[in-house]
Amino acid sequence: MKEIFPKLYGNGALKARLGKSLLAPTPDTAHAYIIEGAKGIGKHTLALTLAASLVCEARGDGTKPLPCGECESCRKIFAHICPDVIEIGRDGDKASLGVDAIRALKGDVCIYPNDLDLKFYIINDADTMTVQAQNAFLLTLEEPPAYVVFLLLCESAASMLETVRSRAPVIRMQPLSPDELSAALRASLPTASRDKDIFDAAVMSAGGSLGRAIELLSGDASAEVAARRQAAAKFCRICADKKKSAEALAHLCAACTNSRDEAIKVLTDISTAFRDLCLLKKSSDAPLRFYTDRAAATELSDSYPLRRLLTFSEEVASAIESLEKNMNVRLTLISLLSRTGMMN
Ligand SMILES: [Zn+2]
Repeated sequence: MKEIFPKLYGNGALKARLGKSLLAPTPDTAHAYIIEGAKGIGKHTLALTLAASLVCEARGDGTKPLPCGECESCRKIFAHICPDVIEIGRDGDKASLGVDAIRALKGDVCIYPNDLDLKFYIINDADTMTVQAQNAFLLTLEEPPAYVVFLLLCESAASMLETVRSRAPVIRMQPLSPDELSAALRASLPTASRDKDIFDAAVMSAGGSLGRAIELLSGDASAEVAARRQAAAKFCRICADKKKSAEALAHLCAACTNSRDEAIKVLTDISTAFRDLCLLKKSSDAPLRFYTDRAAATELSDSYPLRRLLTFSEEVASAIESLEKNMNVRLTLISLLSRTGMMN
């Protein structure tokens, strides 16, 4: 069997599901798809990949992956110069996708494709379509010409009218695992792993989104994120020794710089770290979200009794809640250490 979507990272279940219908000699596909997932997760890449798969000139070839990425149709689509792949989106910085864009689309739909047998409309931020726009779109979505495929990209399909949602299968994109994301980042940005701390911080803070990881690595944000993670990791190391309460408090106050926003971010990292340490108690190959060095994390987890790790997890979460309710930063941190048994 040919490989499906070779350039799309992760998303094994999605590839298996779409591959089945796409690899058939006459692909059994819908005339519209809703592609759902977080910002930067690869929705646009999937839309182009899906389009290319349907028109790839190597479709009948049993040896090449689908899409091949080399034929003229593939090359034009991935270079964004194919006249039969039409992008629709919000105007400038407008918050919603209005009815005018949809009316223009309806006029264009009746025109036959230029180069390809099919014509694709990628509708970006489809969940920001106004109700008027969605209603205007409905009839076209219901009965488009046979050569049309709509690809509706959105963060949350639930925000769209049920009448729109029910007319297109939803393809939900999965966040990449840390390993998948590391590989994807190295392939996309060959210089990305020069600074290991910053690279690891981007991988672990990006929520499985390649776009977000690239954003974190470009710009000042990356050093900030790395420093915050180091502070969180150090806090977890200090607290393994109950007697180090003074050091733990001084370190936490310095890391949080007495700012509520910063404190919430640092505590969120600490909370993810304690989650990893708890999971490692249960299984040595638990999927980790904070630690990249499994051996070191396992050693740290072993130095805590499980009960204490659970207390830390609960109390850090409740400290974040207090800060969100505007409690004083320093008092919240002192209370956190006292409730976790550090100050007794
Ligand atoms: Zn091709």
